[in-house]
This record gives sequence, structure tokens and C-alpha cells, in this order.
Amino acid sequence: MKFKDYSIAESIKSQLERMKFNKPTDIQFKTIPHILEGEDVMAIAQTGTGKTAAFVVPILDKLERKRRKNYSGIRCLVMVPTRELAQQINTVFQEIGKETSVKSFGLYGGVEQEQQIQRLSKKVDVLVATPGRMFDLISQGHIDVTGVEHLILDEADLMLDMGFLKDIQDIVLKIPKKRQTLFFTATIDKKIKSLAYSVVRDAIRIQISPKNPVAKNVDHAVAFVEMDDKRFFLENVLREYEDDMFIVFVRTKVRAERVVAALARAGMESHFFHGGMEQKDRFQILDKFRKGEFRVLVTTDVAARGIDIPSVKYVINYDLPEEPENYVHRCGRCGRGTNRGQALSFCDTQIEMEFLELIEEYTGETITRHEIDPNEYKAIIFDAEDPTYDWQKLLDDDNKFSGTEEEW
Ligand code: ADP
Ligand code: MG
Repeated sequence: MKFKDYSIAESIKSQLERMKFNKPTDIQFKTIPHILEGEDVMAIAQTGTGKTAAFVVPILDKLERKRRKNYSGIRCLVMVPTRELAQQINTVFQEIGKETSVKSFGLYGGVEQEQQIQRLSKKVDVLVATPGRMFDLISQGHIDVTGVEHLILDEADLMLDMGFLKDIQDIVLKIPKKRQTLFFTATIDKKIKSLAYSVVRDAIRIQISPKNPVAKNVDHAVAFVEMDDKRFFLENVLREYEDDMFIVFVRTKVRAERVVAALARAGMESHFFHGGMEQKDRFQILDKFRKGEFRVLVTTDVAARGIDIPSVKYVINYDLPEEPENYVHRCGRCGRGTNRGQALSFCDTQIEMEFLELIEEYTGETITRHEIDPNEYKAIIFDAEDPTYDWQKLLDDDNKFSGTEEEW
């Protein structure tokens, strides 16, 4: 089946064709008919499989066909966990909906409210928002959700996880009971699933590859590298694949900045991206990376979810994530759509073995061991650009493990 055979608005079909979206992906094929029917859907599919268009296409169609005579507020609310994801999904609505009359707007914190309030006073059909800023503006009376017909949670498991749950429940109370609710995610556990069912009515559950949430087109390897040696191995890998784009995940904001400094010492350009930066700098760095203006992004779990940059070929877990589902999301930043990706993790044998076990238990797969011969190991350190510099001292105070989420 092709998109042109669907009974959706011509204005959407022609735009999909221009974007070279000819055939729906599996998850799109399975969910779109139910969403068009107005059913509640909980969709679980691997990273990079096209979940965004799976809701954007049918929702745009519904909004476009069932136009209201007079504008009466937001009709579709999409909630997402990070600001960059709000911006990205808003862009997908605008792109696929380019030829329609549907107006969408991305709302997030970290920037001035004034302009957002002005924009909200005009026509917004689809609001793609992070919970914090949205809740602020609802309580200040700038957002009216009483006409919402469709509520969508992307990265639904994280959204329903403790941090966001209360906000969402409060908002749900303000939205009409008669609404369509859609959940999209790559990972979901039992606890979150039961929470999710408390927000939907008779949801149809659609799950692709139920057992393994790990994307099929990503190859995985782990190398045992001691904490203090990691930067030499990173340098080594980056030099070996000097034309490719990398996302390097570290545990904390401070470490992200230090890895960038370490690479700069070795004469390699990279940029950090984390939750402690000014929002305008966050957008700017991600935008430059998206355009390929530099090839190595060093980041925290703030970039683990949803970000779609198809040209990224490698994900390096410089530090292993403590939450195993974050491994799945991080690695899912490569191997998007039909591209292949490679994930390489550096596992320290003192502290991180337990995280590796948790990850393998969670995914049900053993990650290929990338054996490093002891002589090669020494040679990599020896060959590094600046092995004498006292990185150890610099990183030491930061090698202790601490909580993750506030560290984004
Ligand atoms: P997910 O949310 O499942 O991780 P995305 O929705 O971000 O994945 O989509 C992953 C990539 O696949 C994006 O670059 C998107 O443009 C592309 N894509 C999605 N659907 C199609 C399609 N039907 N045909 C071609 N490319 C697609
Ligand atoms: Mg997504």
C-alpha cells in the first residue's frame, strides 16, 4: 500500500510525495487507519521507524477535513519531554501540513514568554509542547485546552514517568472527556503501561517487534575501556572514521564539556549539548550539527529521546547509561529510517559492569564484545595526541556516579 492509495486529503498526499514518503512504514501502516477512525491507540515501535508521521499524517487529515467554522482554540495537543523535540515535531507538522490550512506551534521553556503569548493569541490548531512552559501558560490563562480533540504523548513512557505525571493528569482534567488519546513510544514497562491505560479508553495496542525494543538497523559493540583511558579511545575511533557523524553520550553536563575540551587538546572539533546551556545556544548547536557543520556532538541523556538526524552514523556511549531504556534510546539516534547505524559503548570494568548487565537483561541480547589486544590498548593510549596531559586530574572529581535526570 502506498500513501497515494490512502483516503487522506490530497494536500497531504502531494506533500508526502514531495518529501519522498511513498510507502508507509510498518508502524504507520498499522496505526493510521485506527487513528483515522478516531480510536485511542497505544503504539510501541522501535526507534527511527517513523512514529512521528504515524500520528502527524492522520491528525492533519482529520483537522483539515473537519474544519471548524470559527476558530475556537487548540484542537490537538502533543506533549513531548524536551524542547528540541517540541521544535522537531512542530517542524514535521508544518512540513507535512504545508499545503493544508492547519497551523501548528512549538511551545517550550527556556525562551521569553512574551512572543509565545502573542503567537498563542492567534490561530493555533496543533500545539506541540513541553509540560513546564505549557502548564505555566495554561495557568496564566493564555492557553485554552477546553476544545482539544486529540491528545498525543510522544515518548509516552518518559512523559508518564513520575516527573511529568502530575502535570499531565492536571491537564487531562481540563480537556474534554470526549477526545482521542494517542501514545507513542519505543519502550514501555508494566508500571507505565497501567498508568497509560488510566488516561485512555479501550485503547488499541499496536506493538511492532514486541520483544526487542532495539532498532534492527543498529549494530552494537562494547569495548572494555577504563574510565581514565576513555578519551584516548574516543580520539582513536573519531580518527578512524573521520568522515562520519557521531553522537557521544556521557553521564553528566560537566563531563560533556570536559570531553569536548579533551578532544580540542587533541586538535579535534566537537561541541557539547546539554540541559545547562542557554536555550538559544542549545538550538543553535543542534541546528549546526543537523546541517553537518561539525561532526561530533557530545551530549547527555537530554538528547537521548526522539532527536532525528538521519546522517548520524555512530553513537558512542562514552559512559554507560544507568537506566537500561536510555541505552535503547541513545543507540536509536543512529540507524534512522532505512539508514544503518553503529553503537559502540565504552564499559569501565570497575563501575560499569553492572550497567552492562542491566542493559543486556533489558534488551535480552548480548552485546558483541570488541576485544582489544593488551598491546593495542597500550598503543592507543601511546598514540593519542596528548597522553601526558593530566586528564586524570581533570576528570577524577567527576568520575563519581550521581543521579541522572537533573544532570541532563
Ligand atoms: P521514531 O519517532 O519512530 O523514532 P521518526 O518519526 O523520527 O522515528 O522517523 C525516523 C525517520 O524516518 C525520519 O527521518 C523520517 O523523516 C523518516 N520517515 C518516516 N516515515 C517515512 C516514510 N514513510 N518514508 C520515508 N521516510 C520516512
Ligand atoms: Mg519519535
